[in-house]
Amino acid sequence: MNAEIVAVGTELLLGDIVNTNAQFLAQELAAMGIGVHFQSVVGDNPDRLRQTLELALGRADLVITSGGLGPTDDDLTKQTICRALGVELYEDKRAREMLEAHFGKTGRVITPNNYKQVMLPQGCVPFYNEFGTAPGCAVEKDGKVVMMLPGPPREIVPMFLKDGREFLARYGDGVIVSTNLREYGIGESALEPMVQEFLDGANPTTALYAKEGEVLIRVTAKEKDRETANKMCRITVNNIKAVLGDVVYGENVDSLEQVVVGLLKEQGKTLATAESCTGGLLSMRLTRIPGASAVFEYGVCTYANRIKAKMLHVPEAVLEQFGAVSPQTALAMARGVREEGGADLGVSITGIAGPEGGTPEKPVGLVYVALCDGENAWVKELRLHRSGREREYIRSLAAMQALDLVRRRLCGFPLIGAKSGEDYER
Ligand code: ATP
Ligand code: MG
Repeated sequence: MNAEIVAVGTELLLGDIVNTNAQFLAQELAAMGIGVHFQSVVGDNPDRLRQTLELALGRADLVITSGGLGPTDDDLTKQTICRALGVELYEDKRAREMLEAHFGKTGRVITPNNYKQVMLPQGCVPFYNEFGTAPGCAVEKDGKVVMMLPGPPREIVPMFLKDGREFLARYGDGVIVSTNLREYGIGESALEPMVQEFLDGANPTTALYAKEGEVLIRVTAKEKDRETANKMCRITVNNIKAVLGDVVYGENVDSLEQVVVGLLKEQGKTLATAESCTGGLLSMRLTRIPGASAVFEYGVCTYANRIKAKMLHVPEAVLEQFGAVSPQTALAMARGVREEGGADLGVSITGIAGPEGGTPEKPVGLVYVALCDGENAWVKELRLHRSGREREYIRSLAAMQALDLVRRRLCGFPLIGAKSGEDYER
């Protein structure tokens, strides 16, 4: 089976939004072994949408559309597809009930145009929308399949992962199972040769996706039944973990902060954060995780030296002698925030994010990250560089380094590259 992705929306043509839905669908289809031969983008125009659809149906077995399922006049994907296929629309009872319940919950009045969304093609498999109001669906006609999915990423992603994948499984000759590993600490180019034998494998397949500062490793197995697929996937996952060791920070997790919050919870520990050049990025990342309040009570952004001294008790003498960007200041910040916050662990970040403010001794990208557990303290010097977007890159990487330091301490892994606080306090 081969597929074509058709993204519908004038905003896409104008460049107002990026076509992340096509990227998502393409990756998912590839992982399922469904070849994508074409991708198209078309505006909210019925004639051109129809032309695009006819072209797509002429060259693909499966056409997946994104967008244009909503209530407004410019949402015409379903109507146009049904006209082209010669399929009637019917009002879906369950979709109507869900729509009414949705409006009931939010206390809003349903305007008549909303009912347009609950009209579905006769004979389709409905995909009820748990994250929005417009259901998606899949319909088969003359040996071709058209799957219609909503535009908003927060709706299309869960809908495809659940209903879309399940629907397509019936066309495949097996079950596909994937596991995502997340790795932090080894860059993609260094990682690749380490896992080359897995990347060369045909089943399970292994793919690397470089993300900001980290790498996602996806292992996908295709087998006759789920149990065998799971088993095959597990063997490869374990082998990769054995090769990479403690740089793999999680399996099927979303982020480093999710793992850190989970570990703190498990161990009944709390964390306090003191940030300078990251301006609260670290506390923002931690508080993104639901339930963070159980482990995170205190985070401060101490940008000025005066505040570092006042809030965190960094000795004036330390600031004067070594400067705000120094291992000594980072250590004092971590100790200070741990005490002030009454936390088990204190972590701090201070550095030069640029583009100005660098000197030959302390260049842009020099960052210190420190960690204190009440007994011991550690500090790590980072030299972060990348042309373009330098400031954001440095801030983002610094926050990740702080999270990884906390993770390593909680797991009892070596704090690679960090020095003991004692080295600076003798
Ligand atoms: P709604 O019910 O919100 O109107 P819809 O299914 O009609 O949903 P559209 O109106 O086409 O979808 O798009 C709604 C929003 O979803 C867009 O404003 C945009 O933010 C996002 N979106 C649409 N298509 C894409 C795409 N291909 N990639 C990323 N985001 C998209
Ligand atoms: Mg819309």
